[in-house]
Amino acid sequence: MKFKTDNSEIQDFLNDASNFKGTCEGVYFPQNEADIIEILKDANRKNLQVTVSGNGTGLNGGRVPEGGIVISTNNLNRVIEINEEQKYAVVETGVLLSEFHTMIEQKGLFYPPDPTEQNCFLGATVANNSSGAKSFKYGPTRDYVEELDVILPTGDKFTIKRGEISADGFVLKLTTDSGDDIVIQLPRYRMPDTKNSAGYYCKAGMDAIDLFIGSEGTLGIITRVKLKLIDKPENILSCVVFFSDENDALNFIAGAVDLSVNNDDSPDQINALGLEYFDKYSLRFMKEEYPQIPAHAGAAVWFEQEINDYTEEILLDKWVELLSEHNADIETAWIATNDKDREKFKDFRHAVSSKVTEYITREGIRKIGTDTAVPKDQFPEYYNFITKLVEENNIKYIVYGHAGDSHLHLNMMPVNQNEYDLARNIYHRLCEKAVEMKGTVSAEHGIGKLKRNYLKLMYSDENLKAMAKVKRTLDPNLILNIGNIIDPEILKEV
Ligand SMILES: Cc1cc2nc3c(=O)[nH]c(=O)nc-3n(C[C@H](O)[C@H](O)[C@H](O)COP(=O)(O)OP(=O)(O)OC[C@H]3O[C@@H](n4cnc5c(N)ncnc54)[C@H](O)[C@@H]3O)c2cc1C
Repeated sequence: MKFKTDNSEIQDFLNDASNFKGTCEGVYFPQNEADIIEILKDANRKNLQVTVSGNGTGLNGGRVPEGGIVISTNNLNRVIEINEEQKYAVVETGVLLSEFHTMIEQKGLFYPPDPTEQNCFLGATVANNSSGAKSFKYGPTRDYVEELDVILPTGDKFTIKRGEISADGFVLKLTTDSGDDIVIQLPRYRMPDTKNSAGYYCKAGMDAIDLFIGSEGTLGIITRVKLKLIDKPENILSCVVFFSDENDALNFIAGAVDLSVNNDDSPDQINALGLEYFDKYSLRFMKEEYPQIPAHAGAAVWFEQEINDYTEEILLDKWVELLSEHNADIETAWIATNDKDREKFKDFRHAVSSKVTEYITREGIRKIGTDTAVPKDQFPEYYNFITKLVEENNIKYIVYGHAGDSHLHLNMMPVNQNEYDLARNIYHRLCEKAVEMKGTVSAEHGIGKLKRNYLKLMYSDENLKAMAKVKRTLDPNLILNIGNIIDPEILKEV
């Protein structure tokens, strides 16, 4: 197995898309599980810190090492099985999500999780419980994970199947492949009833697999995943619609959410797959690359819905009716009913995030972006609160994202240190407000190393310690992905 230490060869593993930078002694490139087991056993003997890396698109510093060694999962990239009849796929952790989607769809199947950034590894999306635009209808990655192979931090292997092991109340008993019994006392906090990627998934009677999904590599290294697939929709209607007034756009989204969640699976009624929002500043940001954005546009919504030959016209009429009720500019709407055009809208959504990254890099600015979500009934108040607070403080910003899930990314772009400090305070207040409203500080990007302090807004010291104890139970020498989710100081205390 390769171990690289040369600076030029390991550079790429020292940061992620958050631009947080780290250091390490070297990077291992294991070819299989046995290699990973060997590295972890050795690291335990030497008390060496280990960080596991996916493809580095994370936004929270999770894969960034703070010393020790890195395990790259680049070479664990085999698609082991695609079972068309029983609709599942078995893959190694390092398979690229974008390539997986293409491969699955060529077989008439569909894997719904669709984070905006698709240049990521499947195992990492499980470790982060990633979600995307269509998670509004189809749910996050968690809902598609049927089985995992995990190498625990001790180097013990563990295969876990959904439905096989449940917690007895808050006590989870696991047996590793080598026959060791592990008893885990789960924290007793209540998770928010929103899309959520903050901290461990814990519930009385929960399925053991759910503890590992979204645990950001703190409880083990995922090496193999069995994923549930569904039939590829016959066709998808995809529209980007512009509004002069942002309130009309937000009210349209609220109306579409209500119709969709109350839909009893009638294929000819409104039932959105996703409802993505772009504020006027996002559209201005995009205008140069997309001159077809109407000059008067004050907001836009991208929505999609499954259609077939029979429902296409019926549904188009229903959407037009709803859009008209909310003063949308139907004339300038972009409408797609084929894969090629739909891809363009997906690119448009992706371009907003990447334009921000390009801009801040060019201007030498550090962005501060939220990932908060709140319960649906609190969303209008939260939206007004966040935009008002930033405007009052005169910080340049844009807002876009998964409004159907009451989950937006507000990106502040402070131009100097004073503004940066101010933006950090505002960010803290936006997280506090989301938690006051029973929401989350992270709906999809996870906590990693950069958002640990905000997790403290959601959970009491006692609950953070309970999380740390789960980690300690599985990682007694505290070697794997230290610094992710849990403050190392708390880890030392338990
Ligand atoms: C422009 C942009 C848009 C994005 N949009 C979305 C979005 O819509 N939805 C969303 O959910 N995320 C989004 N993200 C975040 C990111 O793409 C996801 O978090 C993704 O899952 C990270 O995958 P990766 O392979 O790049 O992992 P990395 O960044 O390399 O690692 C992420 C974390 O997973 C851990 N990890 C990696 N592999 C394993 C493994 N095998 N076992 C255990 N732990 C592991 C790492 O230690 C780290 O903590 C976006 C990022 C960017 C840059």
